[in-house]
Amino acid sequence: MTVPSGAGAYESVNVFFDRAADRLGLDDGERELLRRPWRELEVSVPVRMDDGRIQVFTGYRIQHNGVRGPYKGGVRYHPLADRDEVRALASLMTWKTALVDIPFGGAKGGVECDPRLMSTGELNRLTRRYVMNIEHLLDVNRDIPAPDMGTNAQTMAWMMDAYSQIHGYTLAIVTGKPVELGGSAGRESATGRGVVTVMLAAAREAGTGAGRGSVIIQGFGNVGSWTARIAADAGFKVVGVSDVDGGVYRPDGIDVESLLAHSHEAGTVVGFPDADSVSNEELIEQPCDFLVPAAVGGVIHAGNVSNVRAGTVVEAANHPVTPEADDVLNDRGVRVLPDILVNAGGVIVSYFEWSQNLYQAHWDERRVNVELTKIMRRAYEKVSAAAKDQGITYREAAFLLGVGSVAHVARIRGFI
Ligand code: GLU
Repeated sequence: MTVPSGAGAYESVNVFFDRAADRLGLDDGERELLRRPWRELEVSVPVRMDDGRIQVFTGYRIQHNGVRGPYKGGVRYHPLADRDEVRALASLMTWKTALVDIPFGGAKGGVECDPRLMSTGELNRLTRRYVMNIEHLLDVNRDIPAPDMGTNAQTMAWMMDAYSQIHGYTLAIVTGKPVELGGSAGRESATGRGVVTVMLAAAREAGTGAGRGSVIIQGFGNVGSWTARIAADAGFKVVGVSDVDGGVYRPDGIDVESLLAHSHEAGTVVGFPDADSVSNEELIEQPCDFLVPAAVGGVIHAGNVSNVRAGTVVEAANHPVTPEADDVLNDRGVRVLPDILVNAGGVIVSYFEWSQNLYQAHWDERRVNVELTKIMRRAYEKVSAAAKDQGITYREAAFLLGVGSVAHVARIRGFI
């Protein structure tokens, strides 16, 4: 997958921030306060590899803004998780937590590595050394990491263990843990469930039933695979899916459970017998009602946006659409449902997990899903109402609400 060069990810996200700041009438100082990361830490992460060599990776923890609560956000293990990318992702967490109104600020971590090429032992050692190097910035009331691309519940268990070896048993220090270790029921599926909640709300608003919507999903990791499964259960027709190795397409609909079984076995969706094989780039260009990018950023850009034939783009990934491509989609009347709304389900259930850990409570999955759906629907309605009231796009409305809330609380706290 090629991500076109041009403005960095952080500057791209700030195009949307600036539009919100203009609408809110923020002055230069206020903008600077809200735009800049409050704290950035870059660390070297030396790891003894299985072959005996030492390899030194670069890691980051970037705390973008803590006005509304402790910093919150995932840790990404990916070759493209550099400082610019982690900064962009950290700022998106600030606007996301504010938009859905959970009591957190925004942060993100990352290690520039390719977890697909590393053994379990190497990943365990990498994770422990990364935590040792950033632990002084963490605390249950200061900064709480979580999974993101390339990390999962196992990674969070290692993080919790590494932190607890220094500070004593501390469940609430990370979220997205295995359920046996204080993880919340429903956390693993939460982002996908939130994505489908937004799709259902959009289908309802457009007057089309869920059953009539066709869906293409780019990315079949945690978010993409749960989105596919829950969308199919909700009555959508999943017609195309891809992962880093390639894609599969079947206009009559793909049997998602069989595709999951195949992908589990083969390690990729490629080679699934009951669909045509297509490239990642070709998949984005197939007609559908909902196109769901659920992998890396910048995949819909000036160079390919004219080929997009979806009715609605649902940003399950963070910043998958560049600002230039976003303008083109809006001009063409393609609705774009923005990342900070669409993929907020993960951090919402992280909030439930953190609270359960702090109070030694346990919610069953039904309760988690009901509360998650309630918050996602409320956020969708707020965004949709603001977009209509002000004649702006859903993304502009979402940023307006997120940035506006942080600016408001910053004033109350006496920052500005
Ligand atoms: N990595 C997820 C996100 O981008 C979840 C973060 C969290 O749960 O803190 O929203």
